[in-house]
Amino acid sequence: MPDGFEGAARSRLVVLAGPTAVGKGTVAACVRRLHPEIWISVSVTTRPARPGEVDGVHYHFVSDEEFDRLIAEDGLLEWAVVHRAARYGTPRAQVEEHLAAGVPSLLEIDLQGARQVRETMPDALMCFLKPPSWEELERRLVGRGTEGPEERERRLTTARTELAAEPEFDVTIVNTEVETACEELVDLFRSGTGRMHS
Ligand code: 5GP
Repeated sequence: MPDGFEGAARSRLVVLAGPTAVGKGTVAACVRRLHPEIWISVSVTTRPARPGEVDGVHYHFVSDEEFDRLIAEDGLLEWAVVHRAARYGTPRAQVEEHLAAGVPSLLEIDLQGARQVRETMPDALMCFLKPPSWEELERRLVGRGTEGPEERERRLTTARTELAAEPEFDVTIVNTEVETACEELVDLFRSGTGRMHS
């Protein structure tokens, strides 16, 4: 076990959620790069891979039939249809194995999935990643340039509703600067801020 992560009152599982385009993926990538001692769950998704994405690294890219099979087998800890476009889910076995081995584990998932994990794993520390302002969130959504205008509008509508969910979470991190947000997130595993965990 890495230094600083042992002990009773510390979080083992942190769920990172927040509105679309807030930078969850970028913060998670920063954790992956700077803190390999933290395991980040690899989700399954029915959406096609984007250029540069590697199967088994960024996601497990699966067919609709495969996703149905995982649901039927109770193989997913949570799952959701995101942006009305594709299904995403967290493979249950990998999470349980890492937690059983005492490895600090991070889930980077959408709000609907976070709510499911809060119900099924009440010891998880729920972390909300928030933009510095609404204008900044809009700017990031446009700046990313991976979506067309219609899709962008749909995601903004989702983001407005998602921002209102902040009080449901144990802690909020403001994503003003990626590395700072990343370190604040990693600190949650050390301090267990927000709730006590056994
Ligand atoms: P993208 O398609 O841009 O990679 O991700 C779209 C959204 O899906 C992001 O908000 C991301 O957090 C969410 N997401 C990724 N993996 C999962 C998962 O396993 N479960 C849920 N519920 N959402 C996920």
